[in-house]
Amino acid sequence: MDFTENYAHMLDEQDVLASYRKEFYIKKDGIYLDGNSLGLLSKRAEQALLDLLESWKLYGIDGWTEGKNPWFYLSETLGKELAPIVGAAPEEVIVTGSTTTNLHQLVSTFYKPIGKKTKILADELNFPSDIYALQSQLMQKGYDPEKHLVRVASGDGQTLREEDIIAAMSDDIALIVLPAVLYRSGQILDMELLAKEAHKRGITIGFDLCHSIGAIPHELSAWDIDFAFWCNYKHLNGGPGATGGLFVNKRHFGMKPGLAGWFSSRKDKQFDMEHVLTPAEDAGAYQIGTPNVLSMAPLIGSLSMFNEAGMGKIREKSLKLTGYMIDLIVHELDGHGLVLRNPLDVQKRGGHIYLEHPEAARICKALKAEGIIPDFRAPNGIRLAPVALYNTFEEVWKAVQVLKTIMVEEKYKQYENKRGVVA
Ligand SMILES: *Cc1c(COP(=O)(O)O)cnc(C)c1O
Repeated sequence: MDFTENYAHMLDEQDVLASYRKEFYIKKDGIYLDGNSLGLLSKRAEQALLDLLESWKLYGIDGWTEGKNPWFYLSETLGKELAPIVGAAPEEVIVTGSTTTNLHQLVSTFYKPIGKKTKILADELNFPSDIYALQSQLMQKGYDPEKHLVRVASGDGQTLREEDIIAAMSDDIALIVLPAVLYRSGQILDMELLAKEAHKRGITIGFDLCHSIGAIPHELSAWDIDFAFWCNYKHLNGGPGATGGLFVNKRHFGMKPGLAGWFSSRKDKQFDMEHVLTPAEDAGAYQIGTPNVLSMAPLIGSLSMFNEAGMGKIREKSLKLTGYMIDLIVHELDGHGLVLRNPLDVQKRGGHIYLEHPEAARICKALKAEGIIPDFRAPNGIRLAPVALYNTFEEVWKAVQVLKTIMVEEKYKQYENKRGVVA
């Protein structure tokens, strides 16, 4: 290991994905390390959105069925593009809704309390929106979330142990919803093992892929996951508010969507306008209403980059970037009170680094003032995501040097230790 800038240059020269960086809009004199919250705009995504506007201009209503990307089939078309990214069959994936609405849809469909099996198992570190959705779903069914939402505890406040999750799979659990990658610590849960253990006990299991999709490979079909859901605006660079996605295992095809609408229909039946729904025979059945076509368009361009580069190469570079950042942090920042809280093990480490410090909010402000974009998570977390398609090793090197200067010179002390409205 060499801690010089030259070494970073050498790593960049060896980078087989280096050519993708110039396809993105990257601010000069800035280092963007927040791709796990909102991915950057690529030229392909921009072009896809402009093409879509053009089809509106040209075709009006006929754009639903005419042009390069007919809007009526776009959710399915993009589902096919996403399938290899999550390790699913093309018909198991659909682009629709948002993380939270897709979770509502899937819980409405898969949560079937019966006899003693009435509880939902989640974890105490999960993202609030998922927890709110689960609580409200329980209330819809007349259950008290205080008693019926079981949250696996974390031993260290940042990670979960699969053994603890398995131990919590008691015979009163009907459904499990967990993150694939934890949004703070970036820990990867062993989805295959958890699905196997859940199924042994007759429990349905679904995963939130918000922080894993586009960062790590998945094999949702092979792991026999029941369902999954995610947003497309983080690692997948689909743009602010990009339409989300969901996966439903083939085994479950034919189940009625819990929240139905006319877009749940078989495509050939939808415009028959009958009052009896004929649901699509695949994941398309879990759509509800007219898709947000303009919020899907950038994905046409963005996903083409992921499929071209391949998740294998993306993961390989991502691990190199995060590994390099960890080494630099350990070497340069020792003694400054910054504690690395993400798993170090490559099997367990997602696409971002997580540091804790009591002054995290103002350290992030100081980083931003120097052009480095981190992500603050209350009360004391700093997330740094060097992203495979557009960040460089040199940027990682520079970011750590700047962070070091901020700590050594206590530059953060000129800011208030309080978070902004967003992050
Ligand atoms: C980003 C994120 C969300 C956001 O949900 P939206 O419905 O897209 O607002 C939900 N859950 C997790 C785990 C996330 O990381």
